[in-house]
Amino acid sequence: MKSSKSKILIIYTGGTIGMVEDHVSKTLKPFDFNQINKELPELRKIKCHIDAVSFKNPIDSSNVSPVIWEKIGDYINSKYNDYDGFVVLHGTDTMSYTASALSFMFQHLNKPIIFTGSQLPIGMVRTDGKENLITAIEIAATKKEGEPVVQEVAIYFEYQLYRANRTTKISSEHFEAFKSYNFPPLAIAGIDINYNHSVLYRPSIKKMNYIKGFDTNVLVIVFFPGLDLESIKEMIQNSSCKVVVLMTYGSGNIPMSDKITKLIKKQIKKGKIFLNVSQCKAGRVEQQKYETGIQLHNLGVLGVYDMTLEAVISKTMLYLHKFPNDVSQFTTEFLTEKAGEFSI
Ligand code: ASP
Repeated sequence: MKSSKSKILIIYTGGTIGMVEDHVSKTLKPFDFNQINKELPELRKIKCHIDAVSFKNPIDSSNVSPVIWEKIGDYINSKYNDYDGFVVLHGTDTMSYTASALSFMFQHLNKPIIFTGSQLPIGMVRTDGKENLITAIEIAATKKEGEPVVQEVAIYFEYQLYRANRTTKISSEHFEAFKSYNFPPLAIAGIDINYNHSVLYRPSIKKMNYIKGFDTNVLVIVFFPGLDLESIKEMIQNSSCKVVVLMTYGSGNIPMSDKITKLIKKQIKKGKIFLNVSQCKAGRVEQQKYETGIQLHNLGVLGVYDMTLEAVISKTMLYLHKFPNDVSQFTTEFLTEKAGEFSI
């Protein structure tokens, strides 16, 4: 008889959650994944079937690159039909980037891929890792009328479930390490896990489609008062980048300067794409609100609505790889909502 228990696959990639203290150097280093089962006998009590795999060499997430996004994506894709849900254990530092990337790689996802990690190693008494992992597994295993309740890539951290491509890491010391400024939580865990059903993503097509390939020719420029415009000119001109992300002020504003407008105009003519992402985490880019933003709109700089930088970077790299020499196709796809990453 076929078991009605959900089958969950845990993939341990590295990060604090699976780290121990090196007795000599006192720094944190990854440990053998098998230790997680030893540290967490509670896993056996959850009413689902759990398998776990680990990276051979777990990594600090600061070492994550698009190659690792593909490694995780390929593995989940190869096991997609064998499991009801996936839990990815990942360092918090770049978790939002990886989870955003996966949200674009798994188009029309109809199973949960839940990322989690922790601020304190799972072996420590006050660890947040146990609750994060156990609840992430429960969420990945939850079904309603035979259908997974969550059908998207999400991050579970400190009692909140967020849409992955809306998150940002906000704290390196508090247990509440992530925030989703422009989108409400998908669920809140208390005594029960309360899902916000009205905001859960549902794929428009029932068949999952896995895409991959990233072009990393992306440059990010952060504006600040006093920024030497000559230096950004050199940076852009000397770089092989195809997309320049301008981290602007407020609703998408930069200083009024002929130098910068001329530079952007010239580079756009040459085929570079400019994206406008605000340094403000909450709110959206509205280039036409102020004179200082309209100049960018008139030049053809693309405002990214209320997308996070993490979502912008991963989506850009994916679609740049898909349409390497086609600015208009890139623009159309980039400005099309793919996995609930922005609201208009
Ligand atoms: N540096 C660690 C990492 O991102 C921090 C963490 O796991 O939270 O891998």
